[in-house]
Amino acid sequence: MIQKPKGTRDILPSEIYKWQYIEDKVKKVFENAGMKEIRIPVFENTELFSRGVGETTDVVQKEMYTFDDKGGRSITLRPEGTAGVVRSYIENGMASLSTPLKLWYEMAMYRYENVQKGRLREFRQIGTEVIGTQSYLADVEVINLGMQIFKALNISNIKLNINSIGCPKCRAEYQEALRNFIRPNLDKYCDTCKTRFEKNPMRILDCKEEKCKQMNQGAPQILDYLCDECKEHFENVKSLLKELNIDYEIDPNIVRGLDYYTKTVFEFISEDDGLTVLGGGRYDGLVKEIGGQDTPAVGFAMGVERLLEIFDKYNSNSVKDKTVDIYIANIGDRANIFATKLVDELRKRDVFVEKDICKRSLKAQFKYADKQKAKFVITIGDDEVDNNRAKMKNMETGNEIEVELTADEIVKNL
Ligand code: ATP
Ligand code: MG
Repeated sequence: MIQKPKGTRDILPSEIYKWQYIEDKVKKVFENAGMKEIRIPVFENTELFSRGVGETTDVVQKEMYTFDDKGGRSITLRPEGTAGVVRSYIENGMASLSTPLKLWYEMAMYRYENVQKGRLREFRQIGTEVIGTQSYLADVEVINLGMQIFKALNISNIKLNINSIGCPKCRAEYQEALRNFIRPNLDKYCDTCKTRFEKNPMRILDCKEEKCKQMNQGAPQILDYLCDECKEHFENVKSLLKELNIDYEIDPNIVRGLDYYTKTVFEFISEDDGLTVLGGGRYDGLVKEIGGQDTPAVGFAMGVERLLEIFDKYNSNSVKDKTVDIYIANIGDRANIFATKLVDELRKRDVFVEKDICKRSLKAQFKYADKQKAKFVITIGDDEVDNNRAKMKNMETGNEIEVELTADEIVKNL
């Protein structure tokens, strides 16, 4: 048997209603904030990610699905959404639209990861990007949208951690301090960390190797090196969060896995399983880095598979799959044609209705209706066709009433 590739999953018909429920709720939250959906290609030119996400990140160094296409171009399956959205923003001249540009997306991402709980090779992210404002107000709006999504999905026990990782200005001095801290132990760090020491020492703080994590303890913190502007920005974010009664903790260890972040960074962590469900932050340098005008922006991405795990815990009793409103059982050729037409009329009225399309016995039809948890069953034979009336049975109560066999009459009795 051919199996699915490691790290992928099938989303089955039996669980799709949960995905759709989540997607509907999230879409509402975004749309009420004036956001428009954007859809971009699954693959991009590799250079977009090496420049956008950063040469020294785990994503680019270890996790990308990169290949040459038949025309010899280096192509990469998108490992994240922001770089592609920003590429599209520049390429389509969206800078001329009114500011800020508020976008959201839901897209599959591809990363060659160590597969484990909450870590897949194909996974989905729902995210937002707000492009064109440097104000802390946008940071707070984006964080608040994340909060609202969890609320709309009835998910509690979520913790918000925030940090500021400054701008290139404050980072220069910090990176020197960090190098001085790491240098005495450098030969004991993993090979990847060693390659990052000169180019991007902050990446070393994001290393997942246990021995590197140990040695990183007590490292200088960027918060102590923020320039006045970054400091003020962070203070403003914090005080507005307080005004909004949004609880947060400052976690000076958040550096985020992608290089483009500046100033505010944040993570929403599920206290049920300890996993980060949502991560984001400001990325003021990215638009320029990819070839656009110098344009500030802020956004987040949440892992939908991780979201679903916790969603189940809080909603398994209240969110259920739709079941068929009416099943029309029939026997005989005339009744079959009659029932087919009636189904057609009912569906035009937006009723969830089914009938047999396998030419099965009445008994088998009832069995099917039962399995589908049909709310009502109407049974039609020759007599019912002649009289244009039939019994309509409420399957939950067992009550039966007689109805005229027109779509309008049936709808009235639902
Ligand atoms: P980590 O440090 O845990 O690897 P990251 O910095 O790579 O995280 P982001 O790229 O910011 O994470 O992704 C945002 C969110 O997307 C994560 O918080 C998580 O919910 C989800 N996510 C990231 N990678 C995966 C994956 N391999 N499988 C499933 N979900 C993922
Ligand atoms: Mg990662």
